[in-house]
Amino acid sequence: MQLDNQGNKHPTLAILEDLIALQSVNPVYGDDACGEKEVAEYIEQRCKRAGLSVSRQQVLPGRDNLIVELRVGKPESTLLFEAHMDTASIGSMVDPLRPTYVGDRLYGRGACDTKGALAGMIYAMEEAAKEPEQLASDLVLCASVDEEHAYRGVLAFLDLNIPVAGAVVGEPTELGIVIAHKGCIRFAVNTHGKAAHSSVPYEGNNAIYQMAHILRFIHEEAEPRLAPMWHPLCGAPSIVVGTIHGGHQVNIVPESCVIEVDRRIVAGEDPEQVLLDFERELRTYIDDHDINVSVEKLLVDWPLDTSPDAGVVRHAQRVARSLELNATLCGVPYGSDASKLQHRQGIPSIVYGPGSIAQAHARDEWVSVKQVEQAAAFYTEVARTFGQL
Ligand SMILES: [Zn+2]
Repeated sequence: MQLDNQGNKHPTLAILEDLIALQSVNPVYGDDACGEKEVAEYIEQRCKRAGLSVSRQQVLPGRDNLIVELRVGKPESTLLFEAHMDTASIGSMVDPLRPTYVGDRLYGRGACDTKGALAGMIYAMEEAAKEPEQLASDLVLCASVDEEHAYRGVLAFLDLNIPVAGAVVGEPTELGIVIAHKGCIRFAVNTHGKAAHSSVPYEGNNAIYQMAHILRFIHEEAEPRLAPMWHPLCGAPSIVVGTIHGGHQVNIVPESCVIEVDRRIVAGEDPEQVLLDFERELRTYIDDHDINVSVEKLLVDWPLDTSPDAGVVRHAQRVARSLELNATLCGVPYGSDASKLQHRQGIPSIVYGPGSIAQAHARDEWVSVKQVEQAAAFYTEVARTFGQL
């Protein structure tokens, strides 16, 4: 337990303990998953008590975004905090809902991804509500649903068209100011053959053999082309074949085969164009073979590419320096809600939070207590001074 010299725990830790104790596993992870309901109720009650304006936005049945606002008549410079309320599955974690301190670590499901950041943002809103006359910008906190699955919470929030001048998205960045991260395009590649009895295979067309050519193209042609496309903040793009299914029975020439491909894209790449280029190059490669192929788009997620000169970035760096925290700009390989804010509405966004992505979704999830406190101080100061000249 972290106590100051008066024996008091940092208020953010108390909020984080409460959040961990409320199970909010994304419902996609099974029947025992509770979703975000209890966390939303907790934040609603707490923020109302602090005098903040709270509203709900239904995204899915029983799953509401919680929108907390502190309006001081400066809508043109609104600062948005955004953090998701859902977590990954409990998995085999022992005592996932009982916040447990071991040294500088606080264990619990969601401690790192991303309740540590969410707790800090709630604390920052509560602190701001004590002295709203000090603020140079309106503040909005969106505690969103469904980040762990399909980002439907942040996408619904964007439908509200609330003007926002800059956003801070809470995810574990080890207190790095993240301005770039990867996105992805996921797609299926199908080959279509002709079934025949395996005693007369020449009467059929083997869809698995067709797929062998496509796998060779991906592994030997498409993949090596990616290394030189190294991005200084997020590294190189990548391509992975994650699943393969084909055939029904050992004595039948398979008539279909399908693979699913995850192509991670870096800032500067357009996912739709990446898919078009892939398909064009694939068709050129298989041109003189008897291959019947179709490509089906599964998921598009844009990368984050915020300008280092954006107001929210400069402001974050100033605040980090004033608190003697790391002010270096960095990138991460995983995705977040920030790229949706930037791509859909042009909102300059950074990602910032306590904890490491290595601990997110891990069997034993924990967050550094010190980083939770530092992140809370960072959010509080960002909120207090955003919009000031
Ligand atoms: Zn997360």
